[in-house]
Amino acid sequence: MPVSFDAIVVGLGAHGSAATYHLAKRGLRVLGIERFARGHTLGSSGGLSRIIRLSYYEHPDYVPLLRHAWDLWRELERDSGESLLAQTGGLYMGPREGQLVPGALLSARTHGLAHEELDALDIRRRHPLFRIDDDWIAIRDEQAGWLAPERCIETHLRLSERHGVVLRFGEPATWSRDGGGVVVTSASGSYRAQHLVLSAGAWMPELLPELAPHLWIERNVLFWFEPQDHVEEFARLPVWIMEDVVRHESVPAYRMYYGFPYDAAHGFKLAGLHWGDRVDPNAVDREARPIDEERIRSFIRRRIPAADGERRLAKVCMYTNSPDGHFIIDRDGPVTYASACSGHGFKFASAIGELLAELTLDDASAPAFLRARRLSPV
Ligand SMILES: Cc1cc2nc3c(=O)[nH]c(=O)nc-3n(C[C@H](O)[C@H](O)[C@H](O)COP(=O)(O)OP(=O)(O)OC[C@H]3O[C@@H](n4cnc5c(N)ncnc54)[C@H](O)[C@@H]3O)c2cc1C
Repeated sequence: MPVSFDAIVVGLGAHGSAATYHLAKRGLRVLGIERFARGHTLGSSGGLSRIIRLSYYEHPDYVPLLRHAWDLWRELERDSGESLLAQTGGLYMGPREGQLVPGALLSARTHGLAHEELDALDIRRRHPLFRIDDDWIAIRDEQAGWLAPERCIETHLRLSERHGVVLRFGEPATWSRDGGGVVVTSASGSYRAQHLVLSAGAWMPELLPELAPHLWIERNVLFWFEPQDHVEEFARLPVWIMEDVVRHESVPAYRMYYGFPYDAAHGFKLAGLHWGDRVDPNAVDREARPIDEERIRSFIRRRIPAADGERRLAKVCMYTNSPDGHFIIDRDGPVTYASACSGHGFKFASAIGELLAELTLDDASAPAFLRARRLSPV
């Protein structure tokens, strides 16, 4: 006879760890199952830092969820005594006709967010490390900074245990429907529950095959370099995003890059957004290749030449992408799920975990632009 729980959460990364916490806070008996060891960094959440920012270029409709996520991270810090979020401010630079600065300005103006608008002279005066074009503009976002992802996940797990959640690690799980509920099976046995939360990141296509045609998994590499000089200036940087533009025979090609303040223990961290290598999460190459480093160094040489020093660290990570770049959060009978965080979902994990708990208990619905039903049939 399988052991019974009110809810089972499969996948204890960013969103699953937050979901177990919020389900347990609402009084449910919860089991959380994770395929790898506690503290692993083999999914989408490894790499020491994740940007959080409110003037969101991706869409102004994310801003209410972001405000709530920020408050919940601060609440988690108070409840746990951990320091998880460093507010550094954010600097987003690029061409006027690009996506980044106009999108961030739209969110800031629509939602009355504290921000400052800069022209190229201002950017050069304040941040001479960046080589920018004469017609670029920027926005300085006050409510921005970075989260420590491994500590955020561990803190949600630790507080979940305090609320009685049973956690199992090193156990890849499968599931099936069973009457009105579900049965989940892993190496340690079978478990029955009324509710299932699926938050398996890059493995969601395996666990929810109906989503698979909409998802693709992308390999991305984060790098840390030791600057050649100006280390103090690198350490004073806010979190930043640059929309770079390269012209081939006058046709512009845009690509975003982002980074963090220098940290003496690891170096100056930066990466490119969406390089586009499609991978199978069970066969991903976890070593940084020379081509990965050359791509990022060619950007550094052009736009931040003082950072072109020794490589200190590299980390391979995976995005789970949806067709429109927006998350997929929904419920189908006993199954609630969050997926396709398309390279920008960590900052929301505190709020998405809560939303998963509310959806499970029928207390809320996901914002329309994030629901699965928006996806066209394939
Ligand atoms: C390089 C990189 C940089 C990023 N930068 C940012 C950023 O600056 N800001 C930001 O907000 N977001 C960023 N993101 C996106 C963000 O990190 C992800 O959206 C977020 O981490 C996804 O969380 P998740 O819970 O869906 O996945 P994960 O944290 O990977 O969790 C999924 C978990 O499910 C487990 N699992 C899978 N299958 C099973 C199974 N069958 N049984 C049991 N367990 C299973 C996995 O092992 C894993 O632990 C970045 C992502 C990458 C890769």
